[in-house]
Amino acid sequence: MKDFFYKHGKEVAFSLIIVVCLVFFINIIAQEKTYSDSVDGQAVEKAEFYSLEQSIRLESRVNSIKAKANVLASALASATSEQKVWETLARTGEIIGYDSNFKTVYYYQDGRLYNAYGMEADADTYPDIKALETVSGTVMTRLFQYENTLMALAVSAPVGGILDRVVLIYDRKVLTPFLYEEGTAGMADCFSHADFTLFCKHDGRILESVVNREGYSIGNEPVQAGLLQDLITDREAFEQVDALIRSGGTGSVTCRIGSEKYVLTVNSCKNAGGLFLVSLYDMADVYGSGYEFVNSIWGTLLVFFALMLFISISFIAGRVTMHRKIFEIGAVDSRLHCPTLMKFGRDAEEILHDNKVSQFAVIVARINNFSYVSDRFGEQLTTELLTYARDVYKNSLLIGETYAYNTDGEFVLLMHYKDRKGLIDRLTGVSSRISRYQSAEHEDFRVKVSFSVYEIERSIPQSVHRMLDKAMAIRYAGVDVNGELSCSFYNDVVGENYMKKAEIEGEMESALRNSEFHIFYQPKYSFDKNTISGSEVLVRWYDSKNEVYHQPGVFLPVFEENGFINQLDRFVFYKACENMAECLKNNIPIFPISVNVSRVTATQPDFIEYYARIKNKFRVGDGFITLEFTESFAYENYEYLAAIVTKLHENGFVCSLDDFGTGYSSYNLLKTMEMDEIKLDKIFLQKGISEKRDRQILESIITLVKDLGMTVTQEGVETEQEFETMRSLGCDLIQGYYFAKPMKFVHYCEFKQAHFSK
Ligand code: C2E
Ligand code: CA
Ligand code: CA
Repeated sequence: MKDFFYKHGKEVAFSLIIVVCLVFFINIIAQEKTYSDSVDGQAVEKAEFYSLEQSIRLESRVNSIKAKANVLASALASATSEQKVWETLARTGEIIGYDSNFKTVYYYQDGRLYNAYGMEADADTYPDIKALETVSGTVMTRLFQYENTLMALAVSAPVGGILDRVVLIYDRKVLTPFLYEEGTAGMADCFSHADFTLFCKHDGRILESVVNREGYSIGNEPVQAGLLQDLITDREAFEQVDALIRSGGTGSVTCRIGSEKYVLTVNSCKNAGGLFLVSLYDMADVYGSGYEFVNSIWGTLLVFFALMLFISISFIAGRVTMHRKIFEIGAVDSRLHCPTLMKFGRDAEEILHDNKVSQFAVIVARINNFSYVSDRFGEQLTTELLTYARDVYKNSLLIGETYAYNTDGEFVLLMHYKDRKGLIDRLTGVSSRISRYQSAEHEDFRVKVSFSVYEIERSIPQSVHRMLDKAMAIRYAGVDVNGELSCSFYNDVVGENYMKKAEIEGEMESALRNSEFHIFYQPKYSFDKNTISGSEVLVRWYDSKNEVYHQPGVFLPVFEENGFINQLDRFVFYKACENMAECLKNNIPIFPISVNVSRVTATQPDFIEYYARIKNKFRVGDGFITLEFTESFAYENYEYLAAIVTKLHENGFVCSLDDFGTGYSSYNLLKTMEMDEIKLDKIFLQKGISEKRDRQILESIITLVKDLGMTVTQEGVETEQEFETMRSLGCDLIQGYYFAKPMKFVHYCEFKQAHFSK
């Protein structure tokens, strides 16, 4: 648990902050929703209030027109002679007040209709006026067509006396005085706040409209069938409106038009000649301040949300970039801009996977005596030569083949393979093209390349790494073919005696019995402690016949292949524990040790059991022994290793990922393996094209590894400059000739004493 927080502390803290922000955010949204609902309610109330005011205004208008008719009627009623009637009629304007909407006057006498000039009018032309003849009291007609163009309004009042009835004809605009009446300061709020107000007949026909916003086409159809049907897409809302209109009721319906919220009011004005009013109010418009507040909260939330999003994206992007950087490290060679070994591994794996039955060969192609060549040519010319070689290799590849630059003038190739002769022909061509390279400064010099080939045995399941190991193992075998091509084939070489495989195999067991395997210690240096912090245990084979030490590179590949490595690893581990117990007994300071565990050893069923037993036998404390697993093993046995790492932790072992940077899946391993230490391979110390870039790469890896809570150790530190670089980049430990070479146990004990007493 502690480990988890240590490793993922930043992520956990960040997630917590995000969760807290989200809870806060959701809470505010909920509050906002309640508030916004109440604002909606108030907007509806306000719209209904406006609608009521509209109807009151309309009705009072109708009443005032009726009153005028009554005034005229009573003036006429008091006329005692025809003469007086004529005089009164002539003064109509004066009596009812000059109204620009007033058109003319008609009257009935003895059942006949006359116009203002006393001429009889054909009452059938105006059926609406004719209908007024028999009604009692003062009434207003429906609006009707008068003189072809205008919709007019007729008000009829009974007179009595000489005339039966007087009919005043007004322009329909008389009903909308807020717009047209002189002396009105402007439209009343109840009309001006509506997007539109429609004056409709009981059947829905629109007689008059006041439209304050653009975009509404009123049309001639009944209001429900036309405009409202188009506007209100919400079926339920539309049906409510329709029902209101049909029933001649008064009320309001809320609906959405586009993204805006609206209130539609319907008001049947009982005393306005059967008219009803339909108005549409934009809620944000009728209750602006409420919505402004709502919007300002939304605005703040949005800014807050955007900020959170920005921070999250930056955080994630930062991590992703760093991870990608690491993932891509080594994919492209910085000097030659071509694939590196890591990329080669991935690509070749893919090609082999996609072409399961085809035959291929892995080829290591190296420029002979490269260190001499690079010394003689200097850096710039060497790069030129390598670039030339790169182009030759690249151009000689066929589809489904790949290549990469390794180091020290060495390229690796994956080529199709039909038979040996065919491959030799191709390689001869490549070799002669490369030897054509000429530099002006060294005209006499001919570049020669040697190839070592592993003809892939497709029946054996093996990683590209293993294939490369095989081709590389014989890279110095150098057999001349046809006198011009220097090329060796793995099977031949191994079959002969280059690696003395048979000899090694024949002697290995007796060597173990006769204690010919010795363990060496290479101290590690800690920047924090400024002194030794432990050591790596390395095996050597002492050849007593020839009195030389064989380096692990010579015999380990054979042991790995025949499985003897398991016995050797266990022996090395046993010896190292025994040495530690001896130190304890003799009061020699002890420091943690690291031992290498090969893939064969790690996959033995009793691996953990044996290691734990020996550790306990010699009473070595928890945390004192680190087991190193190579990156290539981790990559190939990912799930298995992940599982045993947990068990090893339970048994008090520390786990380390060795040779980091030489494999191809480094980044994923880092992220998912519960390793305690990462050992960066020597490869990271090799110079690329730019020191700045080298530094950046190292820095980002070190940061990432430390970020994940692991110790980072750099191997192969040979110079003071490398040492200082590692210090400045925050590396924890270094191992390399600069601090100490691998040494025998006795020398290691002296070394420890010397450093301990410092
Ligand atoms: P390794 O685990 O990466 O060990 C480090 C190698 O780098 C050692 O090579 C060490 O001598 C060498 N080295 C240390 N400092 C420097 C330096 O400053 N410059 C250079 N150029 N090299 C340095 P060594 O001892 O030849 O071992 C080679 C490999 O053999 C080891 O690589 C390890 O993978 C394997 N090995 C050694 N002992 C054992 C063992 O007991 N069991 C197993 N399974 N593998 C072992
Ligand atoms: Ca190692
Ligand atoms: Ca290593």
